[in-house]
Amino acid sequence: MAISRCLTDRSIEHVVLERGEVANSWRTERWDSLRLLTPNWQSRLPGYGYEGDDPDGFRTTPEIVAFIDRYARVISAPVQTRTRVISVRGIDSGYQVTTDQGEWRCRTLVLATGACNVACVPACAAGVPPSLRTITPMEYRNPDQLEPGGVLVVGASATGIQLANEIHRSGRPVTLSVGEHIRAPRIYRGKDIHWWMDVTGVFHERYDQIEDIVRARRLPSLQLVGSPEHATLDLNALTSIGVKTVGRLAGVNDGKAQFSGSLRNQCALSDLKMGRLLDAIDLWATDNGMNGEVGEPMRFAPTMVEDSPPLGLDLTRGEIETIVWATGYRPDYSWIDIPEVKDGSGLILHRRGVTPSPGLTFVGLTWQHTRGSALLGFVKEDAAFIAETIDARRNKDAAESSPEGVEVEPTGPIPLRS
Ligand SMILES: Cc1cc2nc3c(=O)[nH]c(=O)nc-3n(C[C@H](O)[C@H](O)[C@H](O)COP(=O)(O)OP(=O)(O)OC[C@H]3O[C@@H](n4cnc5c(N)ncnc54)[C@H](O)[C@@H]3O)c2cc1C
Repeated sequence: MAISRCLTDRSIEHVVLERGEVANSWRTERWDSLRLLTPNWQSRLPGYGYEGDDPDGFRTTPEIVAFIDRYARVISAPVQTRTRVISVRGIDSGYQVTTDQGEWRCRTLVLATGACNVACVPACAAGVPPSLRTITPMEYRNPDQLEPGGVLVVGASATGIQLANEIHRSGRPVTLSVGEHIRAPRIYRGKDIHWWMDVTGVFHERYDQIEDIVRARRLPSLQLVGSPEHATLDLNALTSIGVKTVGRLAGVNDGKAQFSGSLRNQCALSDLKMGRLLDAIDLWATDNGMNGEVGEPMRFAPTMVEDSPPLGLDLTRGEIETIVWATGYRPDYSWIDIPEVKDGSGLILHRRGVTPSPGLTFVGLTWQHTRGSALLGFVKEDAAFIAETIDARRNKDAAESSPEGVEVEPTGPIPLRS
């Protein structure tokens, strides 16, 4: 929707193909209780933002769908819904786009299919005894879907901690397997942590200002939840209600889950990183004369870890009935048949969303240009840049094919059949 709006602003004819309805991922791939973990004011699409009376609140999933739906109507986005793109390949004049509703050809193609198309499941899942139910966050809706009995939630970033909290409170004892994670308080010195990360420039950090961008692109999300209470949901909050924490899931052999012995170190590292973030915030507040306007600096109790967390769990004894794989998401590019835009691991080769294949661009990639690129609050800068790039190419083509500056037809998508 963001790129559609930016193209319309430049009078660039286009069509948006969507396999479901507008806001499809929010309609079909999220659990019932999910709220945005970004505050309402941080939903900022080109020319469109939050106008309600709760800017610091967190939208529910139906509210996000309504927000994006309304945007599509306000900008009169030319969306063709129920049209799944099955493959994209290069042809002499641009791209051949095959959909389940027919073929399209275009000179210019923007892929905005999201950074979270597939739930990642570790290879060791193959060793899980078949008597257990396993589920990903894309299939999970609420605890009633699960059998009574214990649940192993694997992964302790935003999704894992939210599901562990909800499932444990439903009366199913949760064991949470904790790997690398990033702890953060919801509120710091009276302000939302996302407010701090926004004003201090953390979200605006560019890919080329980061020491190791490959690693940064793989980092997990912050341990955060959006709730009406603006509560912090970290491992201490979870262990205080009885969630049991264990180390990273290292393997499943002979029906036994094996956990790494690194839990204490992982938690210490996460506490350290949170401390660094808070130090940077305090420094910024001092440098910018904010100390009188916000609360006092403070530090949080270290993450509590039991002395000898178990290194194994027998999955055949009935203690665990369900495993939830909260082990991240990845994009799906399997349908893009243009080898020169993929690296060896299938990720997209691009600079700021512009690929080596002329006319093929992306919007919504993780760290496309800045840390915030794949979030609702920051995509507009990337969308504006991509629209500008497309416009410049169009103008260059027009100038080359029309030396006297005569107006030429815009190169919109040409339907071959429908
Ligand atoms: C659990 C979860 C929580 C999140 N919480 C937040 C949050 O609090 N704040 C925030 O800013 N971001 C959040 N995000 C990230 C969020 O997904 C993005 O901010 C936002 O949805 C990205 O929009 P997008 O259009 O790039 O991708 P998506 O919302 O994923 O949209 C991609 C669209 O492309 C369509 N599509 C995909 N493949 C095809 C195809 N082959 N043919 C046709 N159509 C196709 C999909 O149906 C979908 O509608 C969250 C993500 C997840 C998974």
